[in-house]
Amino acid sequence: MDMNSVPEVNIGENLRLVHERIASACARSGRRPEDVTLVAVSKLKPFGDILAARACGVSDFGENYVQELTGKMEQAESCGGDPIRWHMIGHLQKNKVKYLIGRTALIHSVDSLSLAEQIEKEAAKKDLQVKILLEVNAAREESKWGFAPEETAEAAEQVSALPHLRLLGLMTSAPLTEDPESNRPYFRALSDLARQLSEGRLLVPDPEFRCPVLSMGMTGDFETAVEEGATIVRIGTAVFGKRNYL
Ligand SMILES: *Cc1c(COP(=O)(O)O)cnc(C)c1O
Repeated sequence: MDMNSVPEVNIGENLRLVHERIASACARSGRRPEDVTLVAVSKLKPFGDILAARACGVSDFGENYVQELTGKMEQAESCGGDPIRWHMIGHLQKNKVKYLIGRTALIHSVDSLSLAEQIEKEAAKKDLQVKILLEVNAAREESKWGFAPEETAEAAEQVSALPHLRLLGLMTSAPLTEDPESNRPYFRALSDLARQLSEGRLLVPDPEFRCPVLSMGMTGDFETAVEEGATIVRIGTAVFGKRNYL
């Protein structure tokens, strides 16, 4: 990855537009823009793009692949500069958990109890608390990871008993669609589910993130997600441009 490569898209202008759209969605739904955190999803993008977004004030970055994430963490450490909060948002294999402990602001993609238990085990070794979300397969897509909506409360109960995990909320990736309105029911369901968990005291309040955390909304549907209560939106394409998959 070439740190000095000049981004082909205008990341600053893209960010301005994204923030404007988040602010409009907040205005429509009586929310405050400062209650929505933008996680810029930089997967498959060069480290130079992260630096460009960091220079525009973005502090939270999301990655899907452990090796790419830890590589970028190392690049960030070696170039100094303002600290970055790293978010793991992709499917996490148990044998890779050890590489992330103590290095992520939040792991969004806890999609099984056995993964939660593996994180607990590695966190206990280092005597650290790890902040996590449970991933919910809100639309029950076969191709997607995550707990079925009706399994989520029980999973939250089991996870909240693990002493080195801090369960802050829920995450979902809604179906890819041309019509964001069609995802509104999934966002609303996730929001209701998080409220129930919160009322049942299964979620831990956290000074860094608004509780309960609702991580939902991507380039195609983030305004709808914000209207339905997202506290974190995960946006890649609208910030960095299209990705080239290998
Ligand atoms: C890639 C990805 C995103 C960002 O997707 P865009 O449509 O490019 O905004 C968000 N969340 C997850 C889990 C992803 O894998």
